[in-house]
Amino acid sequence: MRPAGRVEEVFCPKCKRYVGTLEKCPYCMAKVPKRLAFRLLKWGGLAVAVLGVLFLYIDVRGPHILAKNPYVISVGDTYKENAVTMNFGQVIMTGKATFVKYYDDMRSLGMFLTDLDNENQDIFIRAYDVTTFTLFDMEKTRLNENSPVPKFPAVGDNVTLRGNLRVRASAAQAGEFRMLYIQYPEAVLNIERQTDKTPVSIAQINANPDNFKLYQRIQIEGKIISTGDLGWAIPLNLYEMSTGAEASVMVPNILNQFGRTLTAKVGDLVRVKGAIQYYYGTPQIWLASWDDLEVIG
Ligand SMILES: [Zn+2]
Repeated sequence: MRPAGRVEEVFCPKCKRYVGTLEKCPYCMAKVPKRLAFRLLKWGGLAVAVLGVLFLYIDVRGPHILAKNPYVISVGDTYKENAVTMNFGQVIMTGKATFVKYYDDMRSLGMFLTDLDNENQDIFIRAYDVTTFTLFDMEKTRLNENSPVPKFPAVGDNVTLRGNLRVRASAAQAGEFRMLYIQYPEAVLNIERQTDKTPVSIAQINANPDNFKLYQRIQIEGKIISTGDLGWAIPLNLYEMSTGAEASVMVPNILNQFGRTLTAKVGDLVRVKGAIQYYYGTPQIWLASWDDLEVIG
């Protein structure tokens, strides 16, 4: 078979052996001149491919010139009949965090987001190890810099995420299943943590729990009279000096990932912020991060 191209381009000018598309002879290392068009095709093609992938990689995370923004849906949308058609789609959704946990065995973050308008509709959120640990680091840095913008979601937050949707519809036998995977830390788009600056009395909460919305963030003060260990949280029992009322404050274990541990102890007077949850009718205050706890005496 006769080699394609001009003879002087595919044979080494020095040793005359066949070198094909190589620009340097592999036998005698002599330079084999090639036409400019050929070199452009060879290296230009590679450059276009590399730049193209790089462009898509950047575009999908930011400017959205080619890659369109993902759909913004609600948690409740994943309960609609056509939800299965959204399977594996990239979506943006906002929900209220009602459960946040670090799974030690899988080294991953897991949480439930509840629909903002329907508390009976929720979706499980998962982030794998690299993303989870980066978020831990970001929260650590945030606390060290005294920034008020939370980087790690907590119970009671309104969290906006971008992720990959998995939906199994409500077929009677298969059962329902909804999950959103977040694949990189930037996928945590927004964490809205309400800061109610008005302190409330523990006695007020205990007397009229109906006045306080579930997951509402409040601020209380009291003396720590006892602590415990539930495995996933450390409960602090607070005693309000002026009224004698008591409240249960929860320090979730996940806070230990933010570079600090609990230093407040029995006898300390503390100011605490947190989201209200009810445990068999008894209010519990859930800390979101270390800046929710302040020893004041
Ligand atoms: Zn040669």
